[in-house]
Amino acid sequence: MAKTGRVGLLTQIMIAFAAAIIAGVIFGTGISFVQPLGDLFLRLIQFIIVPLVLSTLVVGVASTGNLKTLGRIGGKTIVYYLATTFIAVSIGLIAGALFTPGAGVDTSIAESGNIPETTETEGVISILLNIIPTNPVAALTNGNILQIIFFAMFLGLGITMVGEKAEPVYRFFDGLAEVMYKITWVVMRLVPIGIFGLLAPIIGEYGLSILLPLIKLITVVAIACIVHVALTYSISAKILGKMNPLKFFKGISPASLLAFSTQSSSGTLPVTIKCSEDNLNVSKKVSSFVLPLGATINMDGTSLYIGVAALFAAQAYGIDLTFGQIMMVVLIATLGSIGTAGVPGAGLIMLTLALTTTGLPLEAIALIAGVDRFMDMFRTATNITGDASAALYINNAENQTNNTLDSA
Ligand code: ASP
Repeated sequence: MAKTGRVGLLTQIMIAFAAAIIAGVIFGTGISFVQPLGDLFLRLIQFIIVPLVLSTLVVGVASTGNLKTLGRIGGKTIVYYLATTFIAVSIGLIAGALFTPGAGVDTSIAESGNIPETTETEGVISILLNIIPTNPVAALTNGNILQIIFFAMFLGLGITMVGEKAEPVYRFFDGLAEVMYKITWVVMRLVPIGIFGLLAPIIGEYGLSILLPLIKLITVVAIACIVHVALTYSISAKILGKMNPLKFFKGISPASLLAFSTQSSSGTLPVTIKCSEDNLNVSKKVSSFVLPLGATINMDGTSLYIGVAALFAAQAYGIDLTFGQIMMVVLIATLGSIGTAGVPGAGLIMLTLALTTTGLPLEAIALIAGVDRFMDMFRTATNITGDASAALYINNAENQTNNTLDSA
């Protein structure tokens, strides 16, 4: 025990990760008794999210100083998010076409009970209107992250516009943000325990017999995610973020492994923020704006998965997709991933929307649902790595702008 302090957190996380897989394989469902450790960690991390997002975002917006800077950062962030999401769904479609994961799948293994009932979708207008909370306190108590982001941004803007008189309000949120960072730091020490408690029972629960029939689909999603991460984010880190890609991946890896284990971008957010600031040198101003937004609207892994899964459904049921249907998949995967919540399994619900809109058989969901958890691991890790790559890029762009302004 005395030596634990000397082992770095990343090493501890890697050990926990490997131990979880080994324990799951060896003990099967017998390892489920460690689940409370995972739940304990998850609750700790969930309790941080609302005050952390609120305080950091208020401070983030208020410290940009003016509307022009906010517009500049916001514009670049949204364009980057849309572009990488588009690349991700394209990689998903190419992988699905190349490796044909649905070819020869026995569609009779679909269990009818697995089709989610929520295929009903809100209109775009009501989704957009819903971002505005009619009662911000209710948004905070319900943990509605998009509404909290809206409220926090407006508070930050208001503070900037009022100026001196709003100084105490600013100082309050600044202090709260610091406190939340400290709490995150404490909770971070428990990440290895959390990963073990969350991952081992999942590995133990899924025997090979459940996985084998769909192993090709899982592998294609995993490979496509790895390709997207390795190519897109390496190029982005190198060219847009001016950082060695290996340093980038190493720096963000605690968050990526946690996302893999929790399958929740929102749940991983405190750790994504911490890793971006401490290991990627992203400023608080940038991380507190780009990352909460990314955890909510930027889901590259999810859009890639929708691309692969749509092709899987078409192949399994022997349907030839038209060009129009493929374009529809691209559109729905991009927009749908924005509307997907950063919680486990949300991508599967979005897949039902993609299948219905493109006229593909919804029964495919029943095939996929049983093993969705495994694909969720890869897509969530991809999602948050994408958010961090955006933070790195925006941070670098802001530094350059500031240097130009300083030297002008
Ligand atoms: N679990 C994913 C996330 O939190 C969303 C999804 O299901 O695709 O990022």
